[in-house]
Amino acid sequence: MKIIIVGSGAGGGTAALVLASKGYDITILEAGKPFKPFTRYLTLVEPLKMMGLLGGESNINRIFPHMNIIRSARDLVLVRGINLGGSTTISCVNMVRTEHGFKKLGLDLSPEFEELEKKLNIKAIPMKRWRPLTYKMYQTAENLGFNPKATPKAVKLDKCNSCGLCEMGCLTGARWDSNQFLNEAIKMGAVIHTSSPVDKLLIEKGHVTGVLIRSGSSTKIVKADAVILAAGCVGTAQILKRSGFKIQDKLWADIVLTVGGISKGAKQLKEPPMTWFSKHENYILSPYLDILSHFFHKPWRNVSINDRVGIMIKIADTEKGTISYDGSIQKTITDNDKLTMNTAISKAKTILEASGVSGPFIKGMYNGGHLGGTVHLKKEDISSMKPSGLPEGLWVADLSLVPYSQGLPTIMLTSALAMRVSNTLSQ
Ligand SMILES: Cc1cc2nc3c(=O)[nH]c(=O)nc-3n(C[C@H](O)[C@H](O)[C@H](O)COP(=O)(O)OP(=O)(O)OC[C@H]3O[C@@H](n4cnc5c(N)ncnc54)[C@H](O)[C@@H]3O)c2cc1C
Ligand code: SF4
Repeated sequence: MKIIIVGSGAGGGTAALVLASKGYDITILEAGKPFKPFTRYLTLVEPLKMMGLLGGESNINRIFPHMNIIRSARDLVLVRGINLGGSTTISCVNMVRTEHGFKKLGLDLSPEFEELEKKLNIKAIPMKRWRPLTYKMYQTAENLGFNPKATPKAVKLDKCNSCGLCEMGCLTGARWDSNQFLNEAIKMGAVIHTSSPVDKLLIEKGHVTGVLIRSGSSTKIVKADAVILAAGCVGTAQILKRSGFKIQDKLWADIVLTVGGISKGAKQLKEPPMTWFSKHENYILSPYLDILSHFFHKPWRNVSINDRVGIMIKIADTEKGTISYDGSIQKTITDNDKLTMNTAISKAKTILEASGVSGPFIKGMYNGGHLGGTVHLKKEDISSMKPSGLPEGLWVADLSLVPYSQGLPTIMLTSALAMRVSNTLSQ
């Protein structure tokens, strides 16, 4: 049986590995190119940003084209990785279990989480490798009763040189990304085609028979017995819309904001990002030097990278937003999101102040990099792991399936879902 997997990120990479290991004939079609980490001349970029010559966040595509930025509202940008390995290549590999909303639908992903944790040897960065201020902020959060925990990560500690730039790609190969799953799948016979953006599905008599790839003016048809869409929420929504299917306008993004303060010589970048996190009802707090805001957000401009200190807030946002067939997105920060954010900001400031970090405490850019919710599963879909309304032979294996914003890292959830979808398909 031939299966096409569209997209090679957390969902596509996992589906490829599971199905190739079961002997299926797997072809992965990826819109982007092979991933190359950013070659770090931050010392050259720093003076340009101080002089205000880097411009706005859209310029990141020139400096680091793998990071795709879409502005969905005046004050919100959405981020994703377009390359082999998808957004996992620009992630901090915080590998946290989250399945908010699924238990009540009757879906328990614990077996998949266990398997992933074992396979990826997930563990926290030892405290002795944290920066002194990060440790101080952890103790402060503990004293304030915020119950901080060391973040589980998929990092090979002996290879990690604490460059702090996980989101720009890992030069030492310490940090996991889905290319590792893809390489295993290739060894078992899977085939990958990069620069192959899928435009739409081919459907005959209610059954998916393949896909149409469109690159510039050239098109190509690839036939298969089944297709798995794992193009990330935006890519999957575009393909479904172009193929004549409806999606729900319930996009969530786990909106993020970093509160920045100043501590001379703190060098927060000299450690893997987000070494601990403190979970609250609908948000988390975590130490983080926000590279995007540091380089592209005007109010952050005048502080050197060695002195900037941040605490990231990641909220479970309102599930409301629209993706168009051309990939443009309409999503705003709602009043409810702002309320959650304001509560979290005051806690972040309390930690910073009580740890000796000076103000002014300045907000970074609102952004979101966990995109989901537009083809979500309902209770009646759980046994088939297929959202109702999709034709025979079509599956989805990315965060599009998840009805609720998580406010937590989502690679584990995406991979666990892709595992369950692949195992269900193979039955
Ligand atoms: C900067 C950043 C940091 C993050 N850090 C973390 C973290 O530390 N921990 C965590 O758990 N989560 C993190 N995330 C979130 C996590 O990376 C994503 O939730 C996860 O990768 C989603 O997997 P996916 O397969 O749905 O999409 P992706 O991993 O984005 O993969 C989708 C793939 O589909 C491809 N594609 C899109 N359209 C098409 C098309 N038409 N045809 C063919 N291919 C297509 C894309 O190029 C991409 O390769 C981060 C996200 C970002 C943006
Ligand atoms: S901090 Fe470690 S894991 Fe992250 S990019 Fe640098 S070397 Fe790789």
